[in-house]
Amino acid sequence: MAKIIILGSSNAIADENHENAHLICVGKTRTVLVDSSRNPILRLRDIGIEFEQITDLILTHFHPDHISGIPLFLMDMWLRGRKSPLEIYGLPHTIERMENLMDAFSWKNWPNFFPVTFNKLPSVALNPVIDCTDFKIYSSPVCHMIPTIGMRIEFNEAKKVVAYSCDTEPCDEVVHLGKNADILIHEASGNFVGHSSSAQAAEIATQANAKRLYLIHYPTGEYWQENTLEDAQRNFDGDVVLAEDLMILNF
Ligand SMILES: [Zn+2]
Repeated sequence: MAKIIILGSSNAIADENHENAHLICVGKTRTVLVDSSRNPILRLRDIGIEFEQITDLILTHFHPDHISGIPLFLMDMWLRGRKSPLEIYGLPHTIERMENLMDAFSWKNWPNFFPVTFNKLPSVALNPVIDCTDFKIYSSPVCHMIPTIGMRIEFNEAKKVVAYSCDTEPCDEVVHLGKNADILIHEASGNFVGHSSSAQAAEIATQANAKRLYLIHYPTGEYWQENTLEDAQRNFDGDVVLAEDLMILNF
């Protein structure tokens, strides 16, 4: 059965129980990691996902709370003997910086590194990224402080749709990504530049006619805001769920 596992649910300031927002989409033939602010290998093993399973890595944008873990993740897989290829996807802004970051570590001198292919995604709406037996993934640019993509994931067998806003102000692009989606996973950092409050996330879910809203990338720990869920529920008729680390969505 295909599934999405929420690996982290916090905004940029993580706490003991909430890592920075990232997730993984697991299918029979492909497993797609979306962002990681720290090396995810051991935590993935704890939940039954070995690193060799990961075929693809989508980087939504080049902010530290989304991509800081990637160099050590790549190095760790290499040291543990990974041989299988890895596809990495992102907007040109993201991919160029990730390649420069790896070059700064002189990774071309690390012998027998497994094949890594960097794929620059065009900054267009509903661009097809991955098409496999279990799911199709599309990307669209959203409205953050730097070039950033959100995603739409269509599960073939279950005929279910999940959209992920990533970091964004309220914008039409996310309405299109989440059109009639079964679940819209929307960020709820707060109402400031490049981000959205939970109330704004709910307005977008309503406009998109999504069935359920999952809030992610919200303030945690000492910054947690008690009214996060109520604010969203006021603007959205469907269920509102607070995404939590290691939550599993089966399809
Ligand atoms: Zn960001």
